[in-house]
Amino acid sequence: MILSLEVRLSLSCEGCDSGVPVNGPVPQVKCARCMEVTQLSGEHGWNKLLPGSLFVSAARSLKPGETLRPENKRVNLSATLRFPPCPTCGEAHDTRRAKLALVKGTPLTCKCGGQSVLQPVPSAFQACHPSVRGFVDAEVYEAADTGAAVSGGPVVMQCMKCQATLPVDGTKRLVECSYCTARNYLPDDLWLALHPAPKRESWFVLFDGGEVLDGLQR
Ligand SMILES: [Zn+2]
Ligand SMILES: [Zn+2]
Ligand SMILES: [Zn+2]
Repeated sequence: MILSLEVRLSLSCEGCDSGVPVNGPVPQVKCARCMEVTQLSGEHGWNKLLPGSLFVSAARSLKPGETLRPENKRVNLSATLRFPPCPTCGEAHDTRRAKLALVKGTPLTCKCGGQSVLQPVPSAFQACHPSVRGFVDAEVYEAADTGAAVSGGPVVMQCMKCQATLPVDGTKRLVECSYCTARNYLPDDLWLALHPAPKRESWFVLFDGGEVLDGLQR
């Protein structure tokens, strides 16, 4: 039977301890504060972020709408047994629709015609959780995403040494003055204004509950 967990997940940055949202089955995340990149493998692998015991508890004893919050110092996780809502009418999808979508390779389709795209499972995630069948509303990793998307208008800042205007464009945190060549480190609040921290958003993990429980008996 196909079950669905609504997941909210973040981990503590190794570099600065601030929370870094993990909004999908991505291979890495980047801290918006210190720009440290954490690879989601090994120590931060998907078997650590979403432990196998989570899927077992969900399949065995969780009731619809109930939430699990496993204790973990470095990981902030809540998982609720809940299907994603139809984007058109808001009614929750169900296990029958999910099964149909998986068999046919189509989006989850509501009786109102609204559809939720079922996202494929990356191989690194699959290796940790073979019972997972797909995702809804998850962030998808794009290798070309440099994370340098700068928000807002131009920022004016003066060189700490000679007061000349600095060329701040958000691509570098250490900015060299074109007059006196002093190097200016942009303060936290300015840097965060240029690179707004992403929020922790929920995504849905669809998995085969029967397969999870079968796996225990082998
Ligand atoms: Zn950090
Ligand atoms: Zn609908
Ligand atoms: Zn200067």
